[in-house]
Amino acid sequence: MPTINPVKGTHDIIADEADVYAYIDYAFSNVAASFGYRRIVTPILEHTEVFDRATGEGSDVVRKEMYTFLDKGNRSVTLRPEGTAGVMRSIVTNKLYATPDMPLKFYYSGSVYRYERPQLGRYREFRQIGVECVGEDSAYLDAETIALAARTLQVLGFQDVKLKVNTLGDKASREAYKEALRSYFGGIIDQMCPDCHERLRLNPLRILDCKVPEDQELVKDAPKMGDYLSEASKQRYQKTLALLDELAIPYEEDDTLVRGLDYYGEIVFEVHCISPEGNDYGAICGGGHYEGILGTFGGPQELDVGVGFAMGVERVYSLMKELGLIDNLAETIDAYLMPLGEQAVDFAYRLADGLRGYGYAVEAPYKTGKLGAMFKRAERKKAKLAIIFGEDELAKQIVQVKDLATQNQEEVPVSGLPQYLADHLQEDGEGE
Ligand code: ATP
Ligand code: MG
Repeated sequence: MPTINPVKGTHDIIADEADVYAYIDYAFSNVAASFGYRRIVTPILEHTEVFDRATGEGSDVVRKEMYTFLDKGNRSVTLRPEGTAGVMRSIVTNKLYATPDMPLKFYYSGSVYRYERPQLGRYREFRQIGVECVGEDSAYLDAETIALAARTLQVLGFQDVKLKVNTLGDKASREAYKEALRSYFGGIIDQMCPDCHERLRLNPLRILDCKVPEDQELVKDAPKMGDYLSEASKQRYQKTLALLDELAIPYEEDDTLVRGLDYYGEIVFEVHCISPEGNDYGAICGGGHYEGILGTFGGPQELDVGVGFAMGVERVYSLMKELGLIDNLAETIDAYLMPLGEQAVDFAYRLADGLRGYGYAVEAPYKTGKLGAMFKRAERKKAKLAIIFGEDELAKQIVQVKDLATQNQEEVPVSGLPQYLADHLQEDGEGE
């Protein structure tokens, strides 16, 4: 039979790697919770309109990256290409705004789908963790959201990331700037890539984000947002930067930074990290302040403002791996049982269950074997203790417990095992 490969751009995440993905998720949810966020889980499958409306037709994502198809009832549905639109749809569907306690703070984690050319750090199915904070307009919130992203990366062990910030100003500033970009790029559009032709028509801001090197050269001489900012936007931006300074969060201003989605305004940011091996995985996190998304679903205008970010878990993982941040995360087990003889296998089955009941990670083989082979297996499983017993031991209701790090071996009564494990595994914070 011919083998079947995964769909192009998708990948399997297995064992140690899957543990790290779960760890990233766990670390992120703890940080988000510490900032007062609650988890939200929205469907992966949404009506296509959700993204047409909330993600914006001028965005690359909606123009060409969506997995859109007709279901059996002839409805156009789409696998979510990002998390924000679904959260906004859900806030309106469930009238979550009907509370005096603004802002609403939600975090999410899950797979997203984009039909892009797979390459380093770029998949068609990938995972994002992110937050949305909706219903209040404040530089404090903007800065705090950036702090949440920074804290997440810090907790994961990143020490050296580059936070890039920019302001896209308020609507009027942005319109004036777009006009200036239209006339600048209009004159040189013949030298630019086909995508930029369309960006010029739909949203010239997006040209600044073009990844074609020749186009990037032309972007360097384009008009600068700073020259088109209203006084209020300038002050808002300076206030946000000052708030980052207060938390000692380092950043770099980058006036070519724009966001892929159309609703962003005021502060926008991205986090990059230089890989030690020189690999460019692209941005690990992108976000910013947005306005007007709730309204596209019929939500209340007075609360139609928010700030959020999304982090690409695949890119975070790849960098953690290269930076050596996951070496000490490898899964270990507390004890590997080594039954010698059929009766001992039978006992191991029950003993394993008993010890698991006390919260220990315990494994046992399902048939007896040579002691040497069992020690090798215990080592591969990174077991801390080996618990060895044959029929003689069982007759006396004792076992031999060997510490695989120190090689010390002790005889322990079966009834005293839970306490022994508690005492023995305590110093590295495992067990009860
Ligand atoms: P890029 O400029 O790299 O295409 P983007 O601006 O499209 O990124 P966002 O929509 O801001 O990305 O998504 C948030 C994060 O998701 C990115 O910062 C990145 O870490 C990750 N990401 C985006 N596209 C992919 C992809 N195809 N594969 C893996 N991760 C991705
Ligand atoms: Mg993209």
